[in-house]
Amino acid sequence: MSTPFDSISGRSFGLETPIEAIEEVAQKATCENCGRDFEEYGVYDSEGGKYYCDNCRNDLVTSLVPEAERYAKDRCMLTRELPPYEPSQEFACLPEEYALGAKESYTPNSYLTAARHEYTNYDELTKNFDRDSIRGQVYYAAVRDRIEEIIAEEIEKKYPKGKLVHRLSW
Ligand SMILES: [Zn+2]
Repeated sequence: MSTPFDSISGRSFGLETPIEAIEEVAQKATCENCGRDFEEYGVYDSEGGKYYCDNCRNDLVTSLVPEAERYAKDRCMLTRELPPYEPSQEFACLPEEYALGAKESYTPNSYLTAARHEYTNYDELTKNFDRDSIRGQVYYAAVRDRIEEIIAEEIEKKYPKGKLVHRLSW
C-alpha cells in the first residue's frame, strides 16, 4: 500500500541545468533565492523563470507538499465503479507485437493504468498543471499518489483480499 507522497522521494523536481547553459540566458549563475553560486547546475523552475540551488529547491518542494496533499485529498475521487480484475483473462502482447503497434494487454499494470485514466478524475485534475514548474510537478505527484491509493483501497475493499492488491506495482 502506498504511503502518502511516495513519489516525492527519489524524484527531482524542476530541471537541473548546467551552469554554462544558465550563463547563456542569465546574467549570473547564482540562486535567485539565497544568492549562492551554483556548483554544477541550477534548478530551473518555469514558474517565474528562476534558477535555484538544491537547498532552495528542496525548501520550495517541502513548502508545497502540504497544500498539494490537501488538494489531492480533497479532490481525487473515483468517477465510476471499478470493474473487477479477472486474472483468468490475463495476457500480455509480445515485444515483437508491441513493436508492430499492438498495445493491448490485460495485466495488473494495464488494469491500473486504465483504472487511473478511465475510472477516476486523474486526467481532469492533472491536465492543467504546468509540468515544467516545481509547483505543477509537486501537485502532479501528490494527485498521482492519492489516485493510486484510492484505487488500491477500492480494490482491497471490493475484491478478495490479497488476490490482486499484493501483485500491484506502480
Ligand atoms: Zn538558494
